[in-house]
Amino acid sequence: SPSLYWLRNDLRLTDNAALTAAAAQGPVIFLYVLDDETPGDRRLGGASRWWLHKSLEALSAKVPLVLRRGAADKVIAAMLKESGATSVHFTRDYAPWSGDLERRVKVVAETAGASCHRYGGFLLHEPEAIRNGSGEPYKVYTPFSKACFAAGEPKPLKPVPKFRAYDGQLKSDTLADWTLLPTKPDWAKGMAAHWTPGEAGAAQRLRDFIADGLEFYADERDRPDRDVTSRLSPYLRFGEISPAQCWHAVRAAQVAAGGKLDRAAEKFLKEVLWREFSYHLLHHWPTLPEKPFRPEFAAFPWSENAKALSAWQKGRTGYPIVDAGMRELWVTGIMHNRVRMIAASFLIKDLLIPWQEGERWFWDTLVDADIGNNAASWQWVAGCGADAAPYFRIFNPVLQGEKFDPAGAYVKKWLPELAHLPDEFVHRPWEAPALVLKAAGVELGKNYPHPVVDHGKARDRALEAFKVIKGSA
Ligand code: FAD
Repeated sequence: SPSLYWLRNDLRLTDNAALTAAAAQGPVIFLYVLDDETPGDRRLGGASRWWLHKSLEALSAKVPLVLRRGAADKVIAAMLKESGATSVHFTRDYAPWSGDLERRVKVVAETAGASCHRYGGFLLHEPEAIRNGSGEPYKVYTPFSKACFAAGEPKPLKPVPKFRAYDGQLKSDTLADWTLLPTKPDWAKGMAAHWTPGEAGAAQRLRDFIADGLEFYADERDRPDRDVTSRLSPYLRFGEISPAQCWHAVRAAQVAAGGKLDRAAEKFLKEVLWREFSYHLLHHWPTLPEKPFRPEFAAFPWSENAKALSAWQKGRTGYPIVDAGMRELWVTGIMHNRVRMIAASFLIKDLLIPWQEGERWFWDTLVDADIGNNAASWQWVAGCGADAAPYFRIFNPVLQGEKFDPAGAYVKKWLPELAHLPDEFVHRPWEAPALVLKAAGVELGKNYPHPVVDHGKARDRALEAFKVIKGSA
């Protein structure tokens, strides 16, 4: 009898414990359920839907996918009835709604007389497995990461299992039925030019990173003008590669380099552990995506400012490093980590707009939009997270730009209207003499905006606002 493999954020065949187990039981039904019901208002955002379409397309070239839409537990119940499958296998997920859903799936499987099996793989460590000396979850990254390192290297990878795909007739939607791709306007053209979603694209990205980026990673990962980070985040998000695959590949490169890559590898693995930490927090504090981890921040005097929010979303704040990041995001579905921090800080502190608005925008526009990393990172920048930057540390977007994009190459790439400005003015065009602006073809207020706020004044305003909750913070 067939076994039912329920695909989720594990869209790969390699190092996949759920698939390996399903394949050992019998012919495999590869079921993917587009479940827009269970996550409530957290259905996948636009960029994620684009990625999902491309990823499933890539996977369907390797295995026969059965595509269904609806609440996953109901779809699985129907599928068990139709196919007579006697076991269900899936990879664990950590979104706040997933635990209940997994319990319901177990019930429907058992009701149908099928066994139900859940496997890890999306993370290196299950959130319950890493505890501090008092048996509590960690709230601070450094001891958490030390505990992860102390837990040892990840298990060896599982090869692609030998499997037989179930060949009975099962109805399936087509990907086109799901209309996951944008049509009018097609805002995903830039994404298509930047990305190859799917397992093969992920493996290629990892190889390229190890060949070209890793060596520079420790020193240059904060530089948006340098292409040295892995860009593996969307692949990890959809499980087209496992964190263990990334870990082992980087460790192997480190060993082969005989000590030369030690710092780089350490730094990279620590970033992978930030991802683990986000999920650790999310699992233990499932309100993380919506509510400040530090409850006193609920009383923060945010301001409603639809016009400023829209300027930020469109990359029209008048601060070039912020605008370049927001345009990179819109075109490619990704933004460099340092620029995410600067752009997020600008929204929260210079514009006093609640971090949740930014988190939602990223949720819709990032191809790596990730319920754990996005929430934890926004809370980190806002100063209300578990292990967060203190609120009063406010990024200066001009100085940050000059430090991390010194020749303005990143800004000029994403803001072609500033491409001819001399380097010294590229992060502060409003200070350029009129003649210089004219020669560069920049007309402030016309083809590039005046700053929406004065950073110095905005900073003072933010610190004033912080006083409202400071006593309790
Ligand atoms: P690399 O530097 O190559 O790092 C390797 C992997 O480690 C990444 O792919 C990612 O999985 C993980 N990682 C790296 N940095 C972080 C970090 N700071 N926190 C958690 N994990 C990290 N990351 C997401 O995956 N999804 C999000 O939705 C997301 N939203 C963010 C929102 C804000 C406001 C900020 C400041 C950061 C956010 N991040 C998010 C974290 C980080 O910016 C991205 O993971 C990183 O830029 C991805 O690029 P990379 O794959 O080249 O990273």
